[in-house]
Parts: sequence; C-alpha cells; structure tokens
Amino acid sequence: MKKITIAIDGHSSCGKSTMAKDLARAIGYVYVDTGAMYRAVTLFALRNNLYTPACEIDADALRERMGEVKISFALNDKTGRPDTYLNGVLVENEIRTMQVSSRVSAVSALPFVREALVAQQQQMGMEKGIVMDGRDIGTVVFPDAELKIFVTASAEVRARRRYDELKAKGVEADYADVLANVEQRDYIDSHREVSPLRKADDALVLDNSEMTIEEQNKWLMEKYLEKAGK
Ligand code: C5P
Repeated sequence: MKKITIAIDGHSSCGKSTMAKDLARAIGYVYVDTGAMYRAVTLFALRNNLYTPACEIDADALRERMGEVKISFALNDKTGRPDTYLNGVLVENEIRTMQVSSRVSAVSALPFVREALVAQQQQMGMEKGIVMDGRDIGTVVFPDAELKIFVTASAEVRARRRYDELKAKGVEADYADVLANVEQRDYIDSHREVSPLRKADDALVLDNSEMTIEEQNKWLMEKYLEKAGK
C-alpha cells in the first residue's frame, strides 16, 4: 500500500491524539503530536522565566532564546507511544499540567514560534508515512495531505475527558477549571491571527461526542484504507 500523509486537526482534548497514536501504531506510521511541541516551548518559557511581571509571555525574550529550544520524541517501550523531550530531558508529564495548558495558547499564537515549529514538522513529514495531529496540519503544515480529519466534540465532553486523564495520572484538577481552560483555548486557537484553527475545505469531520475509542478508531482505519488503498 502506498505511504500517505494523515493530518488530524481539531479542538482541544477531543481525543485526536489517542486516535492518531492508535492508528500510527496499527499501520506502522510515525506519529507526531504537534501540541506537545507548543507545550514544550511553553515549558521552556516558564522554566526560564520569560514572563512579564503581569504574567504575560515576554515575546522578545522568547524570540531571542528560541534557538535554544530543541524538541525531540522517543518511543516509550512501556506505553508504545512517543514521549516528548525538551533539550534531551523527558518532559512528557510536565507539559500536560494546567500551568502549561493555561499558557500554551498565548505562546502558540506567536508567529516566530509557529514558523520554527511548522518548519520542523514539515521536515518530519518529508517521507510521508506520518500521522500528525494539531490545529493547522491540514491547512498549513501539510495542505496536500491525502487524508485530513477534523475532530470535534462538545466542550463538556472534552473537559470531562481531560479531567479524567489528569486524575488517572494523579494530577490534582478541578472540573470547572478544566472546562474553562478548554473553552478559553478554543477561543484563542480559533481567533488568533496566524494559522487559526479551522477545518480544511477537504477535511472529513468527525464529531466523537457519542463515540467510544474503539468506534472512532474503526472509523479512522476505514478512512485510511480508502485513501491508502487507492
Ligand atoms: O493538542 P494540545 O491540546 O496538546 O495543544 C496545546 C495547544 O497548542 C493548543 O491549545 C494550541 O494553542 C496549540 N497548538 C497549535 N497548533 C498545533 C498544535 C497545538 O497552535 N498544530
């Protein structure tokens, strides 16, 4: 079967990563979580205190230090999924905290951050055989992807999923805070000037509010087989 590029975009916490990872594993493709890359840049900014006294991202300071941010992924043998590394140090859990979640949309709205990460993402996908998830994969990173999916679900369902995920990891969380964060990120991601979250014209829409993980995986596998089998 020919190798294709699969772009999965959608709202925060809609289960994109789960379905993208499961598909990549099943078909032997590389999986790239681009949200993890924006989260890693945000963690770098937090750790280096690149924030103004009013707790806003100091864009000039971050721009100057962007060259120091090296993001990589390595497969975790236990989970069978890639973990995120920032400058060689494992940060998979640190990038998922509410502290990072509440700041990542402001960082990802900065044009120089997007430029740097999009270039890396395009490099990773040069040879196809890749499943990439994010907000702008089908519109900006790989506008020619053979298969584009736009995933969504209601904000309440998404907040519940993120809350359960945090709890399962033993991270303290409050459902109302998680819901507010999901809604706030939807707003910022859809209204930013550079590469706002929007469905590519040729993307297939999947609303998985009422679907199980197995059902959505089956749906995605069918779409993949239709495209790659051609
Ligand atoms: O996918 P995840 O929720 O982890 O992404 C975190 C944040 O990174 C999003 O809310 C969005 O602001 C940003 N993002 C982006 N473009 C991408 C992927 C993520 O702007 N391709």
